[in-house]
Formats: sequence, structure tokens, C-alpha cells
Amino acid sequence: MNFCSHCGAAVSRLIPPGDNRERFVCDECGLVHYQNPNNVAGAILTWKDRVLMCKRAIEPQYGLWTLPAGFMENNESVHQAAARESIEEARAQPGHLSLFGVFSMPYISQVYLMFYGKLLSEQVSPGIESLEVGLFARNEIPWDQIAFPVVSHCLELFFEKGAHSERVHQARFNRLANREVEIYTEI
Ligand SMILES: [Zn+2]
Repeated sequence: MNFCSHCGAAVSRLIPPGDNRERFVCDECGLVHYQNPNNVAGAILTWKDRVLMCKRAIEPQYGLWTLPAGFMENNESVHQAAARESIEEARAQPGHLSLFGVFSMPYISQVYLMFYGKLLSEQVSPGIESLEVGLFARNEIPWDQIAFPVVSHCLELFFEKGAHSERVHQARFNRLANREVEIYTEI
């Protein structure tokens, strides 16, 4: 960030009084520009024993498969965000959504809130951000063409533990030096 979004003056990186970490602070009006993690809402949606997946038509990871998920918009609930992404990416009709897992990615300052729900109809079709969409049984999942580690992790948990385990899944993803990702389950 170079300029203040309030007055347009330059910003400096400094620790504001009473704070304990560096922020972008406007040189003119003194506004502190806080930057915080982004929330991503998504869903594991099933029709019988099959899971809805979308082939990405956008970067990053163009052409790889994912679960419907995306950044929350302002003024919506996390449930609404998960449902909206399912509708936008796969023209899906999600039923009731319940929280499946919370996954932190500190290295990219993102938090994934993943839901589980049943589809009300097996009619799905690609939205603008998807090349194709499909319903996959466990042995049909394109495991070697998954877009993000969190998607693989969710699918593994889902097929291993089922839709409703005793508690919400919790994990923290760390990126290692070789760009592999390590997953710590939080309890
Ligand atoms: Zn300013």
C-alpha cells in the first residue's frame, strides 16, 4: 500500500502508539490502515454418495478441480457466502449448510470456513468461474488434479469421517521451504 484511501497522501509503515506491530499509517491524516485475514467460505455438497466439484476457469490453479468456495463479500453471513459460491460456480441448489471445518492458512492470511450440505437437485452446471462441474464418487475424484491443499484435506476428512463428525474439523496449514504444505490438526 502506498497511499491513504481516505485523503490520498503517502503512507508510512510504523507502529502506532499503543499498538505492537507495524501498520500503514497516513503521513497526513494519521489514519491507520489495518490489514487482516480474508475469510473464504465454501461447501462440500453431496447428491447421494457423490460430491460436487468445479474445474477452475480462473487463476490461480486454472484447470484444476476445487470445491465451491470463495472470498466472503461485505454484508453477508458466512452461510450466505458458502451458498452464493455454490450457486455462482456450479448453479447448484444447496440445502441446509452446517459447519464442517475451520482451516487457517497464516502464510497467506486466509481462513477457510467449509460447510457440508445436501444438494436439493442433481442439476448442476458451470458458472462463469468454472470450466466444468461434476458429481464425483470417492473413487472418481480427480485426486491428482486438485487445486488447493485445503480441498484435498476436506475431501479426505469427508470420506474418512463422514459428513457429521463429533466436532468441527480444525487445522492449520503451514507452507514449508520447498512450498509443500504441512497440515497440523488443532484439537
Ligand atoms: Zn490520509
